[in-house]
Amino acid sequence: MLRLPCLSQPLSRVCEEGADSNQKLPERNERESIMQNQKEEIMKKLETLAMQKSHPFCYSCYSRAPSVKCKTCGSDDLMRETSGGVEFGCDWVIKELISENLSPINVDEEFEESIRQCYPETITVLWMELDAVTVAKDSDPISWRIAKDEWLDQEVSEDLLMEIDSNYYRISDIEEYLDQELNE
Ligand SMILES: [Zn+2]
Repeated sequence: MLRLPCLSQPLSRVCEEGADSNQKLPERNERESIMQNQKEEIMKKLETLAMQKSHPFCYSCYSRAPSVKCKTCGSDDLMRETSGGVEFGCDWVIKELISENLSPINVDEEFEESIRQCYPETITVLWMELDAVTVAKDSDPISWRIAKDEWLDQEVSEDLLMEIDSNYYRISDIEEYLDQELNE
């Protein structure tokens, strides 16, 4: 499999090569646990917002319930209702909130931009001075696509992007949206 040399190691590491090597980064485990906590925090906030933006709903009576229990039949096995529908759980409400209120990134553009930052050089072919990124992209679209998929996986695993129904949202946008909504 032909790979871009940049992708044989994490992109971020390649880009950081010029950075101050004396700068002390937290240990891997420590970093992972910080990331894990951040993610849990965001998920908790998303759940809180999803509960605020939806209503408890009794499916048997097919009506909204005022609280955790249906006043008509006494059931506490309630669904959540939004203008978009009725379902159990709040994962779907979270997805609905994000897809309705935020814009997904343009994956092709963002990937190309991140590669450009790693490889700003031009190359000379015959008498032509060409942009290295464009040459790579045009000469081997399959390798380009594989590298793009790897980049996406990495961005998701580092909690920079979140995937919802095949769209990718910036975690920072989600955090900003949560801050706005929850601090109102
Ligand atoms: Zn009921």
